[in-house]
Amino acid sequence: MKVTEHLQNQQNKTLFSIEILPPVKGESIQNIFSAVDTLMEFKPVFIDVTYHREEYVYKEIQAGLLKKELTRKRPGTVAICAALMNRYKVETVPHIICGGFSKEETENALIDLHFLGIDNVLVLRGDPVKSEGVFTAHPEGHRYATDLLGQVVSMNKGKYLDNNIQNAEATNFCVGVAAYPEKHFEAPNLYQDLKYLKMKIEMGADYIVTQMFFDNQAYFDFVKQCRDIGINVPIIPGLKPLTTKGQLSALPRTFHIDMPNDLVKEVEKCKDNEAVKQVGIEWCIQQSKELIAFGVPCLHYYTMSKSTAIKEVASAIF
Ligand code: FAD
Repeated sequence: MKVTEHLQNQQNKTLFSIEILPPVKGESIQNIFSAVDTLMEFKPVFIDVTYHREEYVYKEIQAGLLKKELTRKRPGTVAICAALMNRYKVETVPHIICGGFSKEETENALIDLHFLGIDNVLVLRGDPVKSEGVFTAHPEGHRYATDLLGQVVSMNKGKYLDNNIQNAEATNFCVGVAAYPEKHFEAPNLYQDLKYLKMKIEMGADYIVTQMFFDNQAYFDFVKQCRDIGINVPIIPGLKPLTTKGQLSALPRTFHIDMPNDLVKEVEKCKDNEAVKQVGIEWCIQQSKELIAFGVPCLHYYTMSKSTAIKEVASAIF
């Protein structure tokens, strides 16, 4: 079932959803099951599974001689989606990215998802290769999420890359896209960023999931600006409870977001990370309550594959 169908059938009840990361290569899928087991009592309506492109690692091939190699540290997105669907009978949303894929590889991946009965995808440009800092597209791939979205929309119309394929089966993906209440870090301003977000919706994206934010006002202002320019699809807020003092700088550095001063002051008073976690959970509960009062269709929590803080938030909310 499509994410948008779940949102339409919500009957004024705010839905619960989560994002998880595939385990680091070599770890067991049991780690994912353990995290998800903890949260199933809150009936997540869908589970997003992130996609991680390759990174460069240096391997010593002989004393003092290093070889630079590309390796994918967190493979398994599609298999995890299938395993979660099979085990929990829950909707899964694999993230699909431009980075590292030719158009043909993307087409084949979408065929795999279609054959697995996965109805939803979150279409993204993807992060740059970690050591590069700047995103570079695959020579035969896509540069922006809009380009990748175009390919998904074409396949939903039965148009594949090879024009000789006649009467091809159309896929039927419900498509989510990302958005940034505090602006994507590369966009010159929010107006330009929203211009491309609107383009995604006009091209056929069905819903939006936001980057995490800690100040609800950023989300409220963002939704208003979207509605003002005619973006009328559901905008699902993404939330994460703060759990360590280090995240006060790590999250802004990684996700280009601001931390509200009141939250920073509370965290600075904490003696240890256990106390920070309690502050983070309470902050996230208050954010969730205010967003529900605002009328959001769904609250989407970034677990980073750690479920205890989210469980406490969900226990207070759902
Ligand atoms: P785009 O929409 O392509 O935007 C990138 C930049 O280009 C923006 O500044 C935008 O304003 C601009 N732009 C957009 N379209 C055009 C255009 N047609 N022409 C010119 N400029 C344009 N990363 C991963 O690697 N894996 C994941 O699983 C993952 N999951 C995520 C989930 C969510 C909910 C979010 C919010 C982010 C996620 N990311 C993930 C991070 C994301 O890939 C990065 O933030 C990336 O830098 C931008 O992705 P995007 O899809 O928003 O890109």
